[in-house]
Amino acid sequence: MHTDSAQALSATRHFPDIELSESLIRRFDASGPRYTSYPTADRFQSAFDPAVYQRYLEQRKQPGAVNPLLSVYVHLPFCQSLCYFCACNKVITQDHNRSAQYLDYLHREMALVTEYLGADRRTGQLHLGGGTPTFLSFPELTRLMESLRRHFSFTPDAELGVEIDPRTLAAGTLEHLAALGFNRTSFGVQDFNPAVQQAVNRIQPLEMVEHALSASRAAGFRSVNMDLIYGLPRQSVSSFSHTLDQVIRLSPDRIALYNYAHLPARFKAQRLINEAELPLAEERLQIFLMSTRRLLEAGYVYIGLDHFAKPDDELNTARLDGSLHRNFQGYTTRADYDLIGLGVSAIGKVGASYTQAVRSVTAYYEALDAGRLPVDRGIELSDDDLLRREVIMTIMCSVPLVYDALNRAWQIDFFDYFAHELERLQPFQDAGLISIDADALRVTPKGRLFVRAVGMVFDRYLGRPTVSTYSKLI
Ligand code: SF4
Repeated sequence: MHTDSAQALSATRHFPDIELSESLIRRFDASGPRYTSYPTADRFQSAFDPAVYQRYLEQRKQPGAVNPLLSVYVHLPFCQSLCYFCACNKVITQDHNRSAQYLDYLHREMALVTEYLGADRRTGQLHLGGGTPTFLSFPELTRLMESLRRHFSFTPDAELGVEIDPRTLAAGTLEHLAALGFNRTSFGVQDFNPAVQQAVNRIQPLEMVEHALSASRAAGFRSVNMDLIYGLPRQSVSSFSHTLDQVIRLSPDRIALYNYAHLPARFKAQRLINEAELPLAEERLQIFLMSTRRLLEAGYVYIGLDHFAKPDDELNTARLDGSLHRNFQGYTTRADYDLIGLGVSAIGKVGASYTQAVRSVTAYYEALDAGRLPVDRGIELSDDDLLRREVIMTIMCSVPLVYDALNRAWQIDFFDYFAHELERLQPFQDAGLISIDADALRVTPKGRLFVRAVGMVFDRYLGRPTVSTYSKLI
């Protein structure tokens, strides 16, 4: 048993490049966006229609255009059963015929998008997310990959990732995915405790996950990520510590430790959660402190926000050499690729724009039947948006923000342009969370847990009305 008393946990703990301080968390943890984009998706507008998206896609084929590589995200929304904590855009169904029809429409969308894109379709990254990608049958997965390879040219070192629900893995699935070229897997685990699994309607015994993980390694996947969630019903410091015993033993290359945001007014599935069983704020804080401490002690390094990785993982190498990036896939080593989203609710980023597809399968089919890109909304970024995006993403990656580089790239004087923001950063500087040095603004080891709060200072949209409710770190 690894439970420490709350008193012992409250002490500040120093690790090589991060400081874990309960008092600083109490003071600086704020609700705010996770900045997988800037402006954040709640700022996208319906005036951004299919014609605008088409124009951005077509810019890539203008003579002389210097295009970044592509990253492709495919949203596969079908799931066999409902996890009560879920905030994803999904369709619960037992009817496996539905995925065949959905694939037909995905092929149509790919054809439409690539017609506008033109010949340069070099692609360095692919991610299948959902929903449950492994809801698809083997022949369907093969068909999907064949179509993707026909429409996009994957580079030899392309990162091909897929989200795995261990409960839907048929024998041979991982071998099949590896044969199709996938080299990264991400397992939804959340918690190993049977009582917690029952409370969230996601039963997946330890042996099932262990078996899936070994199969993944045997099939040659070079990186395995595991998603965990804390703040779920029936969790306690002690129970989650037992889950971490198993996680550390299974030794995934990367770990995402998400904070459960209970928003039943927004996410219908969450109304099935018994609120009386949710851990209270104080318990959640102690679970977070215990988990972070244990993962660091087990040799993982803190990448940022809710992500941990082994020291030799390329995410950590990128963090140390300043080439870490952040996009809709979270932290990534891939430079600023254009992102093509395919499928319902998928988000894309092409040139100075973001776009998001319609959410419902019906609206998606209707748009494609009419020969239209299935765009719901999006945003065109101004120069100020682009500059602030660079600043916020650099901070989110805890990479030094070098003024000279920004001044040259954006023809600004950093101290002039951000005079107001620098004033607002004073409390962070006074508390030692950032240092504003002569050459760069740096996030200190003390400040690494609070990059979101620092980034928010540069967000021009905060304070304007939004439909979103932002979560906290804890
Ligand atoms: S958590 Fe994943 S598997 Fe569960 S309902 Fe949501 S999308 Fe489906």
